[in-house]
Amino acid sequence: MYILLDIGGTSTRVASSKNLKTIAKIEKFPTEKNFTPGIEKVHMSIKKIAQDNKITAIVLGIAGIHDKKAGKILASPNLHSWVNKPIVANLKKTYHCPVFLENDTDLGGLGEAVFGAGKKYTIVGYYAIGTGLGGVRIVNKRIDISSQGFEPGHQIIKPDGKKWPPCGQVGCLESLVSGTAFYKNYGIQPENCKNKKIWNDFSKYLAQGIINALVLWSPDIFIIGGGFSERSRLFLNQTKEYVKKNLLVFKSLPIIKSKLGDKAGLYGGLHFLKTRKI
Ligand SMILES: [Zn+2]
Repeated sequence: MYILLDIGGTSTRVASSKNLKTIAKIEKFPTEKNFTPGIEKVHMSIKKIAQDNKITAIVLGIAGIHDKKAGKILASPNLHSWVNKPIVANLKKTYHCPVFLENDTDLGGLGEAVFGAGKKYTIVGYYAIGTGLGGVRIVNKRIDISSQGFEPGHQIIKPDGKKWPPCGQVGCLESLVSGTAFYKNYGIQPENCKNKKIWNDFSKYLAQGIINALVLWSPDIFIIGGGFSERSRLFLNQTKEYVKKNLLVFKSLPIIKSKLGDKAGLYGGLHFLKTRKI
């Protein structure tokens, strides 16, 4: 049995797969901000799902910049307490199997590229908008290589904007387009907001962030995932209009919402394990 873990800024998902073809059981619970109770909850959930089955391998998608060799997170704006904790060692010690640490957004993008909205395309651009904003470029059904990972949420969009405490930068995309920023900037949670002016403002900044990704990543399709994709009817059409109006050097390409929703990271983990020799 294989275990798939997806620890996002808001929710944690734990799932199992017997054959790496389908996902069997999924458990979802709010992510614990503190590491010790957080990892304890993960263990409880794995035990419940795996029961007495032997675990062959685990893939763990978690937000942040990773040191894969050390099996730790080096920085994570939304999960401070998990930084520098021996996450991989902790899981290996308990289950005696290979444990792969990956960025949660990278696995989400991979899931969409293989099983979801991007499955017919070679180069897939992906943004996940949730508590924060992450993104990844997938090429030929693989997470594209990079030196330090992809952090499109921290591209500077508004140099004269406000300092964004989670990363310390000024005017980055995440300070304008994310769940945390939405409440901070507009004083309302996105799920309660019907104000067209606010969503128009949001769409403009998101479009700017997408244009930058398009000219740098040159994908065949661009997918919007994360919690905000469930509310895409409030901003996706305007965002596409802004992209079309302002990006003149490229022909237009599909910009669509995620098909797998909050299961994208688990499906990405499934494919990730399938491509590893275990
Ligand atoms: Zn930032």
